[in-house]
Amino acid sequence: MFGTQGFKIYEAGGVPVSVSPTFLILLVIVVGFNGIVPGTALAAAVFLSVLIHEYGHAIVALRFKLGAAVLIHGLGGLCFHRPASSDRDDALVLVGGPLLEIIAGAAVFAGVFFAPEVLAIPWVGTFLSAFAYFSILWGLINLFAPIYPLDGGRLFHLLLRRLMPEASARTWALRVSMAALVLAGAYAVTAQAFFLVLVVFMLGMDNYNALQSGAPLVSRGSGRARPMSDFGKELLSGAEAAFADEDWREAARLCHQLRASVSTISDKQMKRVWEILGLATARMGEHEEAMEYLKRAPDTAAVKEAREACEAKAGSW
Ligand SMILES: [Zn+2]
Repeated sequence: MFGTQGFKIYEAGGVPVSVSPTFLILLVIVVGFNGIVPGTALAAAVFLSVLIHEYGHAIVALRFKLGAAVLIHGLGGLCFHRPASSDRDDALVLVGGPLLEIIAGAAVFAGVFFAPEVLAIPWVGTFLSAFAYFSILWGLINLFAPIYPLDGGRLFHLLLRRLMPEASARTWALRVSMAALVLAGAYAVTAQAFFLVLVVFMLGMDNYNALQSGAPLVSRGSGRARPMSDFGKELLSGAEAAFADEDWREAARLCHQLRASVSTISDKQMKRVWEILGLATARMGEHEEAMEYLKRAPDTAAVKEAREACEAKAGSW
């Protein structure tokens, strides 16, 4: 229901941002309960707060060269990135989201404290108070509540991993998370907070599925999934160096190795791989094979020239 599909709305700072149709369902519910003006102000405040939260994760993920993409959905947001190479990096990415969100909420609180008259403007007042309260509350819950798959639950699991073997850490993290959800659910039912009941139920399902499936709660960058920052980039710079030294065989060998680990490199880098591979193979005299690679390479002057040469050679025998 709250899947990972969404419409891309914009891209800023190398981070594509998408919105899931489930966010529109939330918008309709909030407007339905609160009226058009306050409802839209509330939804806009939550949207901006969650967006800042996810950008907090994304900024740290980009710092570790893990790439990042943000999805805003009906129950919050998600920041996708490649697996971090250590628990420490993972923890910093996790802390970055709620920390930036709390800072943003506190900044609005401080602003309103010095200029309280803005609260009298209907739409603006609702928007600013909702933004400040939601940001601080949601940020603190995400940071400190040991609820999986929220940030706090993941941080708690990373903490347990330092104290016990992974299998026990995983089980205990999920048990504590379930216990916290039972408490939150009991509170939500007593307070007749319909939306909170829904959130607790969805999170409970995530926990139940995680316990049943036995899938790891964290994945580390290793082997094929190692980030481009080390493995792929080393291979590509090796291929560039061999190509510059006119060692065509070595350049081609490294390119073939890169093709096997295509999941770790970007489209742009893959184009460069096709270019080096095509040119190196052409230099070795394998014209028909080279054409296959050159077809996928970008239209640089060297590539065009090599394509023409290969066509002439391939046609002449
Ligand atoms: Zn988060």
